[in-house]
Amino acid sequence: MMTGMTALALGEKLKRKEIGVEEAVEAVFKEIEKREPRLNCFITLDRERALEDAGEKQKAILQGAETGPFFGVPIAVKDNLCTRGLRTTCGSRMLRDFVPAYDAEVIRRIRQAGMILVGKTNMDEFAMGNTTESSYFGPARNPGGEERSCGGSSGGSAGAVASGECFCALGSDTGGSVRQPAAHCGVVGIKPTYGTVSRYGLIAYASSMDQVGTLTKDVADGAALLEVIGGRDPKDATSVERGPLDFRKALGQGAKGLRVGILKDALDAGLQREVEAAVLRTAGELEAAGARLGELSLGITEYAVPAYYTIACGEASSNLERYDGMKYGFRAQAKDLRSTYGETRSQGFGAEVKRRIMLGTYVLSEGFYDAYYLRALKVRRLIRDACVKAFEDYDVLLGPVAPTTAPRLGGGGENVTAGYLADKYTVPANLAGLPAMSLPCGTDGQGLPVGIQLTGNLFREDLMFRAAGALEKWR
Ligand code: GLN
Repeated sequence: MMTGMTALALGEKLKRKEIGVEEAVEAVFKEIEKREPRLNCFITLDRERALEDAGEKQKAILQGAETGPFFGVPIAVKDNLCTRGLRTTCGSRMLRDFVPAYDAEVIRRIRQAGMILVGKTNMDEFAMGNTTESSYFGPARNPGGEERSCGGSSGGSAGAVASGECFCALGSDTGGSVRQPAAHCGVVGIKPTYGTVSRYGLIAYASSMDQVGTLTKDVADGAALLEVIGGRDPKDATSVERGPLDFRKALGQGAKGLRVGILKDALDAGLQREVEAAVLRTAGELEAAGARLGELSLGITEYAVPAYYTIACGEASSNLERYDGMKYGFRAQAKDLRSTYGETRSQGFGAEVKRRIMLGTYVLSEGFYDAYYLRALKVRRLIRDACVKAFEDYDVLLGPVAPTTAPRLGGGGENVTAGYLADKYTVPANLAGLPAMSLPCGTDGQGLPVGIQLTGNLFREDLMFRAAGALEKWR
């Protein structure tokens, strides 16, 4: 299957004219046609434009144009990234028919690199969730077992890459939404340091933590794709000038002398046996590659989930205020202005989004702001301080991504907080702004992918990539 290739390998073959760009795009759509009726990883496809672009790129290659490593490579992007002229739903009824008038900055950059956008991937509504089941368009199904979830919220992107429906994809990670679905689908998921990638045109969930990340078949693809989408953008005041990004350089540098801290408090009772085994096995591999191992506890991680959900919901309640039926998006028919607002939001949002808007409005309200929101901000600071301190002794932290492998669809039931708690390993990196990634590490007894997580210090993706590169080579 051609679509089993990595994105960089395909880029190389396109450049050498061993494969045609149209041929690659056709292969993607053939796979999509075959698998999509069951997987539901995409919300919208853009076959026509993709083929048109392919023709153009092929012409440029034949004319000997100077092209980058991803020139002509098809890519899928999460449906919360605005695409000019192509509907962008955010997995919600509220934006079911929304066609943006502009491209997100990352879309502009992938197009500038010559990549071909094939479609928009399925996701939890407004990126709130960890199973892709809160999508208005129905859940994405895991290619490794269709009764299983792809994880979430970037479940469609992870499933599309894992199934060979695409070569690589973009997602967004506010509390683990790139890393966790990557782990559940057996692909590589990377969230860079907050501020590395522009959020311009990424539909906001919790702006102080939202960051675009990559879902790819291997680490080199992810590192190279980050080089394409990363970099300062004046349109996003929180984006950072980091100079030219060269994430791939670190991949071949090996793990010799790297100080790796195993997050001992993560290896707790709730962890699935095979996930714990994967973390320990990875530690052993890093040691064999020359890394120095140690164990640490961050201490305050039990407060990470409550702090995360307090802050994320607070920000979400504010960010989602704009969906009032007046400016754009869904509008319900009602008798007057107030009831139009009410009906629009009642009918346009799903249950999970409403729950979070209510929680967020509550924690930001005058009487409770100090008790909840402000306190959560203080916890956030403590978590950040604990991480910064840990990085005095370690270069990379190693732990699980999620407590279990991919859960069954429909298994969440009424226990909402239990679902939130499953995010406990991924949210600390977002609260602290740290780069973190998940790497596939074998399968469990049922053949479902297991992922492990590497976390780096702020702006030190290079050390994280040294570990990841060494691990990939080891395998
Ligand atoms: N599962 C987390 C949440 O629901 C993370 C989501 C995300 O990273 N977008 O908030």
